[in-house]
Amino acid sequence: MERKNAWLDYTEKDEKEIEQTAKDYRHFLNVGKTERECVEELVKQAEKAGYVSLEKKAASGEKIQAGDKIYAVGMKKIMALFHIGQEPLEKGMNILGAHIDSPRLDVKQNPLYEDTDLAYLDTHYYGGVKKYQWVALPLAIHGVIVKKDGETVNVTVGEDEEDPVVYITDLLIHLAGKQMAKKASEVIEGENLDILIGSRPLKDVKDDDKKEAVKANVLNILKEKYGVEEEDFLSAELEIVPAGKARDCGLDRSMVAGYGQDDRVCAYTSFLAMMEMDTPKRTSCCLLTDKEEIGSVGATGMQSRFFENTVAELMEGMGSYSGIALRRALSRSCMLSSDVSAGYDPAYGEFFEKKNSAYLGRGIVLNKFTGARGKSGSNDANAEYVAKVRKIFDDNHVAFQTAELGKVDVGGGGTIAYIAALYGMEVIDSGVAVLSMHSPWEVTSKADIYEAKKAYKAFLQDA
Ligand code: MN
Ligand code: MN
Repeated sequence: MERKNAWLDYTEKDEKEIEQTAKDYRHFLNVGKTERECVEELVKQAEKAGYVSLEKKAASGEKIQAGDKIYAVGMKKIMALFHIGQEPLEKGMNILGAHIDSPRLDVKQNPLYEDTDLAYLDTHYYGGVKKYQWVALPLAIHGVIVKKDGETVNVTVGEDEEDPVVYITDLLIHLAGKQMAKKASEVIEGENLDILIGSRPLKDVKDDDKKEAVKANVLNILKEKYGVEEEDFLSAELEIVPAGKARDCGLDRSMVAGYGQDDRVCAYTSFLAMMEMDTPKRTSCCLLTDKEEIGSVGATGMQSRFFENTVAELMEGMGSYSGIALRRALSRSCMLSSDVSAGYDPAYGEFFEKKNSAYLGRGIVLNKFTGARGKSGSNDANAEYVAKVRKIFDDNHVAFQTAELGKVDVGGGGTIAYIAALYGMEVIDSGVAVLSMHSPWEVTSKADIYEAKKAYKAFLQDA
């Protein structure tokens, strides 16, 4: 049952589209390095494509009807897009659900200190990271500082070529005998992931500041550039991410290397599929969530009521809301939980089971289940539903493969699938295979990105 490499069947026209999709995708990775930035960019693109915010639509007093394109945003970090179909919403929707948060280092609330003429920002990592991967590489700061008067200051440092970058040091190899003998999880301690941000002391400092003249200088720069005080870090969300743009990867340019591809590769291709839809029979939905990497918690995670409340508002706007109608709309929906898969890596082949692994270039990956050990924590998709989805993919000439996350008992992972399934809807995980998942630079195949977009569109049309 080995699946064919998708590259083998591409026509010149396909190849052109693959390149264009990859180019647009790289741009998205570059401008969307945080969940806030992703929402901002996609709202911009959606509005250009004729989407209107749910609030604006409600305020207009116009009834929502078939053909309308509506989006809703929660707390600037989670969003849902709807393309209203011909059928009543009560009959269910076809939903693509992905997440737009990625592993990173968050700046602490009291972060700034000086030690031996060097100034640092202290961090707390977010999501699953191999800490040793985050040292000795150029890093950027993205985020917001909200002042007491409510003003939000946007911060991006390290992306423009003229910008400085920030950095986490590692111990030189010459002195690393003891360090190299440590377990990988302890080589770099979480508490030591501190960002080096300055080394130049302020001249002519007041006596009290003399001991911390480098820190004082950094504070001066922050004051000048952003108009913020040290206390403003208390209400800041600053994310430390790898600096630089996503790149083509490989001499044959068949891959994309870049930060945050889990899960922006599925989020973006799901979004593209939405944008390319004509008015569907069943309402199409694309849901892009936050906080997946820390358990889908909080008001902007999948466990929140954001989605349910938004669908309720949508039905209210269509004049069809009732408690039972909402429940029916949700339980009669079906969903692709669009999240990435572990790509088979020959260098680490022993951790995979070859018959049930995802391979770069063999198309979108269906994961009937995720989870750990005895499928713990997974949404195990129903065979009937898997049959339906694979028929849709086959009918639409989508290259797909099936896989699970590594060998039995080696590890595991979860997605938002089981949470959406709580409504009683059919859900299956489906996404793009990634190499070096959760590392600062992840790698995907352009063929798989293209097939994902095709798959998502086919699903919206035919499910
Ligand atoms: Mn993911
Ligand atoms: Mn992840």
